[in-house]
Amino acid sequence: MAGAGAPKRQDTRKFFENLSGAGKSIAVLTSGGDAQGMNAAVRAVVRMGIYVGAKVYFIHEGYQGMVDGGDNIKEATWESVSSMLQVGGTVIGSARCKEFRTHEGRLKAAHNLVQRNITNLCVIGGDGSLTGANLFREEWSGLLDELLQQGLIDEEAAQRNSALHIVGMVGSIDNDFCGTDMTIGTDSALHRIIEVVDAIMTTAQRLNIIIVAEGAIDRQGQPITSDFVKDLVVRCLGFDTRVTILGHVQRGGTPSAFDRILASRMGVEAVLALLEASANTPACVVSLVGNQAVRLPLMECVQMTQEVQKAMDEKKFDEAVRLRGRSFENNLSTYRLLSYRKADSELPNSSFNVAVMNVGAPAAGMNAAVRSAVRVGITEGHKMFAVNDGFEGFYKGQIKEIKWGDVGGWTGQGGSLLGTKRTLPGKHLDKIAEQMRIHNINALLVIGGFEAFESLLQLYEARADYEEFCIPMCMLPATISNNVPGTDLSIGADTSLNAIVETCDRIKQSASGTKRRVFIIETMGGYCGYLATVGGLAAGADTVYIYEEPFDIRDLQANVEHLTQKMKTSIQRGLVLRNENCNENFTTDFIYQLYTEEGRGVFDCRKNILGHMQQGGAPSPFDRNFGTKVAAKAMQWITRTLKDSYKGGRVFANSEETACLLGMRRRAMVFQPVSQLRDETDFVHRIPKEQWWLKLRPLMKILAKYKTSYDVSDSGQLEHVTRVRPKESNTSSAI
Ligand code: ADP
Repeated sequence: MAGAGAPKRQDTRKFFENLSGAGKSIAVLTSGGDAQGMNAAVRAVVRMGIYVGAKVYFIHEGYQGMVDGGDNIKEATWESVSSMLQVGGTVIGSARCKEFRTHEGRLKAAHNLVQRNITNLCVIGGDGSLTGANLFREEWSGLLDELLQQGLIDEEAAQRNSALHIVGMVGSIDNDFCGTDMTIGTDSALHRIIEVVDAIMTTAQRLNIIIVAEGAIDRQGQPITSDFVKDLVVRCLGFDTRVTILGHVQRGGTPSAFDRILASRMGVEAVLALLEASANTPACVVSLVGNQAVRLPLMECVQMTQEVQKAMDEKKFDEAVRLRGRSFENNLSTYRLLSYRKADSELPNSSFNVAVMNVGAPAAGMNAAVRSAVRVGITEGHKMFAVNDGFEGFYKGQIKEIKWGDVGGWTGQGGSLLGTKRTLPGKHLDKIAEQMRIHNINALLVIGGFEAFESLLQLYEARADYEEFCIPMCMLPATISNNVPGTDLSIGADTSLNAIVETCDRIKQSASGTKRRVFIIETMGGYCGYLATVGGLAAGADTVYIYEEPFDIRDLQANVEHLTQKMKTSIQRGLVLRNENCNENFTTDFIYQLYTEEGRGVFDCRKNILGHMQQGGAPSPFDRNFGTKVAAKAMQWITRTLKDSYKGGRVFANSEETACLLGMRRRAMVFQPVSQLRDETDFVHRIPKEQWWLKLRPLMKILAKYKTSYDVSDSGQLEHVTRVRPKESNTSSAI
């Protein structure tokens, strides 16, 4: 027992129940070019705003609606944002507004806000829209004075509305804003682009694809048009060449899972930022760094974004790349590394042999990772070896050299082209060591899920008995379940989320026209509730059952009651997700029957087990890029570690650090010894002991109208653009 005088451990967590929106009014608008995911952001702002007790207003048609007032500014209700999560574009309208660029226009806009006591503004748009918002805030007190002088408002109204708080969210398919790794809409636009590129790929064999950005210029600043590239290819190479212009396709279609989640997280964060703002808080933008939401001063971001343009105008291209930040630089250098094949004579000759393999169930993006590893390895001078069928193939000797050309076209392919098995190495150590000797394997890259992690641990632990395993070994987490310790995200989970979300959209749509229906959908993930929870957030689920958050019959009863209440409103559909292992006895059938019985007369139910469709399909752009980037980084680590451990004519590596997992932790990509990750792992249920995404559960519940407690300790501090990354990290762009 703790002594009476022992100091109590201070609870530093901060819960948002202490933040109230009562008496406050928040307006939300979308401005500039529209982007997929804007609706999800609007929905999150509206629901979070209402949840905390604020009045929330839509401003239709961007700044034009703010200047014109009248019906353009309308109070939002909970139901008014239902069924918009899956819709592309912006439901509340966006416009370009010349008037807002003038003082007169902004004066009218201020008048319209003051008349409604709106002093909190959430602007979703690109850098132009956010610049306008900042200017508006800076002018605010002057505008109020003018309105007062003109007799348009009285002293009391001026007092009541004296401080205008502004929070921006970057909605733009271009990802052209400094301070955030991803803008809302970019991931969906990438989906459209790869859908078209994949489709074109199937029309011809031996096909080469050249992608030209609409604003591409040469070093002299002259435009590089697609027709120019076509003529060049025809003239110099004589190839039959066709041009396809993607145009507005990129802005269209339904938002991807990534954009819905990003926008939902940012929307909630924006409301928190508004609630916490004081009179002196500068306008801020909520953005994404690595996997974390951060707040940055809006003007710093805008200035840096404008500096990029200035550097481009002055043809200082290296400077422009540097100003875009490390994630952009990383992307560019990885792309360069993989697309240009150096001549053999230009390659260093390391004389090291590196093996690459897949372990566990297939996950989309594994092939992109293998391609990247093979090509980076070759560029670094290594001989690369492919192992087929995981450790089963390894001990049977299914190992052969793999060349640059062998992995051509692998990025967009689903499944595992190397072949993958769940077999662990433990029972075959002798034979595996023998194969390592035969092929003189000097380093190993394992790409896979929980089994890959267990495999690497077994090899690490066997180092005392087998010198062959005293080599640099690295694993990349690749599993749809996202249940590997040491990483916030694994390769494949995003593709799977998209499959879940697309299916939920279809299922929900199937009920339009019918009356009051609840869908109960079972997702995969083993004991890990990531897919169910994050899929639920992206699809707008009412309830998500997972193993990590135990529930009992009282919860089930409350959930049915919640749906019964919902059916009394204009929203007559319900979506319930259930992770396959959430509870041994409350099975999908049980829950379906319970809801059917208890909902009798109010709603009827349908159930769906998504099954293996969650494992298949072409990898999403996120998984292609994530797989590509982490594999390149892992190979660079392997090269460094090989050099460090090469002594006396041989490779010998037996320290903890030389058997590691490369994972994303909050803002950074980090190499972590597997031996240290052991303590962070629940081996019985095959999940990490701590899972970051559990923090998203309250968010999902709030958006589904449940009362809950939400820990906001992570958010709050305003940071500076240049300081958002930890110095030593190598962050790659990801949610
Ligand atoms: P984006 O926000 O996508 O960059 P624009 O640059 O067209 O798109 O800006 C959208 C709207 O934001 C403009 O039509 C205008 O109303 C407003 N805006 C842009 N820049 C400014 C500015 N410097 N001052 C005031 N308003 C601006």
